[in-house]
Amino acid sequence: MKSLRSLIRQSVLILMAGLLLVFSVLIYTGGDALLRRFVDGRLLGLAETLATIVEQHPNIIESSGEDRALAAEVSRSEKEQHGLQEVTHSLVVFSPDGRVVWKGPEAVAQHPVPDDTVFERVRHGNTVFETVESADGTPIRHLFLPIPRQGQVRYVLHAEASMLLYRETLKALVILLTAGSGTILLVAWGGSGWLAKKVLTPIEVLSTSAETMSEADLGKRLTLDSPYQEFRRLTQAFNSVMDRFQRSGEIQRSFCDIAAHEMKTPLTILQGNLEVALLKARTSEEYREALINNLEQVGRLIALTRSLLTLAKFTSGKPPVHLVPLALEPMIQDMVDELTLLADDRRITLSFESQSVPPVLGDAQWLKQALINLLDNALHYTPSGGAVTVRLQAVGEGVAVAVEDTGHGIEPEHLPHLFERFYRTDWARAKDAGGTGLGLPIVKEIAEAHGGTISVTSLVDKGSVFTLRLPVPTHLTIPA
Ligand code: ADP
Repeated sequence: MKSLRSLIRQSVLILMAGLLLVFSVLIYTGGDALLRRFVDGRLLGLAETLATIVEQHPNIIESSGEDRALAAEVSRSEKEQHGLQEVTHSLVVFSPDGRVVWKGPEAVAQHPVPDDTVFERVRHGNTVFETVESADGTPIRHLFLPIPRQGQVRYVLHAEASMLLYRETLKALVILLTAGSGTILLVAWGGSGWLAKKVLTPIEVLSTSAETMSEADLGKRLTLDSPYQEFRRLTQAFNSVMDRFQRSGEIQRSFCDIAAHEMKTPLTILQGNLEVALLKARTSEEYREALINNLEQVGRLIALTRSLLTLAKFTSGKPPVHLVPLALEPMIQDMVDELTLLADDRRITLSFESQSVPPVLGDAQWLKQALINLLDNALHYTPSGGAVTVRLQAVGEGVAVAVEDTGHGIEPEHLPHLFERFYRTDWARAKDAGGTGLGLPIVKEIAEAHGGTISVTSLVDKGSVFTLRLPVPTHLTIPA
């Protein structure tokens, strides 16, 4: 497994090495160019001063080749006096055909004779620079400067300067850059180690705390004493995940408790009925009564299991809906048709009133489940002779499906709790054993998964209206 610590250190080192290399190359090439410019500029300045003197006093050269005359003239140049004395030893004046016409008093005996190509270029009026290594390996910079008279090259002035200082300076620059870069890299290596430690220590503290946390410690929270907002955020995020984890654990535990309790009641009744029935010999009428009672309890268990199975299909506590454009009217019509037999059996009038409404984005399976729960309740809690009406209408930006009954109604104090899991009104508990208290919470989850709502209005002894509202997206058409 890769370590973040070595990644940070290596990255810093590679980055620094790259930057230093680029910096060093730039400094070296820049320094080299500047030094060359300095050497050439100085050489050219001096040579031009001499050329001016030769131009002004050609007789000095032409008369005798007397070294001293030019030297004396040269020494009178106040401007470049110091520099001129320094280079006059290397001064040679050639005639355009390559003959030495004058040589400085201290010019080296083996002064270089310019080759033909150089001479040719100078004859055409060009100034030529050349670097040639001397016998002892010292680079020497040569300058060949044309001295014109009456539009023609009269003389060729040759000056030279040693580039020893230039070479030494460049060498010193390389040493300086290498030593500087090495030191910076060492500091970067140490600094990146410190930085990695600073960054990773809080993470390690968090990891160790998280690792040592067991299921029994779900109430514990991480504490990290760091001044940095990123680590504070990380700690807060971790703790809020733990909050959610703990809350969902508690919800799950209490859900299991209630579910087990809800199962225990019919099972206990079943067991009691069977024990009483077996206690002594009974008449067939008594056995029949016991069986009918047991059948009710089995019905309740089946309803509970069905609701629990529906909840088991939820992912992360929500129904996993797959939303597609959906026309509600035919779907509801089919359901009403299917339930008409049951309603007739209970002598309840079931009807469907529909307006033309736009399609919604919905999951047919889950919406059917919600409507079955509502219709099941309406038929269940409405006495014979009553009526259940389903109304589909456009309301504001959406559509509303209202399931209206003329049943017992619900007392106002129960209304805010109807959508809580396992909640049942006392009257419903007393009336029958068939309910589970899970039907309406499931409807609420389905409505919310569709971006909709479920609401209820009810009057005792008049009836109840449960309204499922679904939003209608703009520009929605149903594929043919
Ligand atoms: P149940 O399986 O008990 O019907 P629900 O979650 O579907 O569970 O309903 C919760 C409670 O709401 C029911 O026990 C009942 O008291 C009340 N209720 C639901 N629908 C109606 C209705 N149409 N008329 C009267 N009471 C109702």
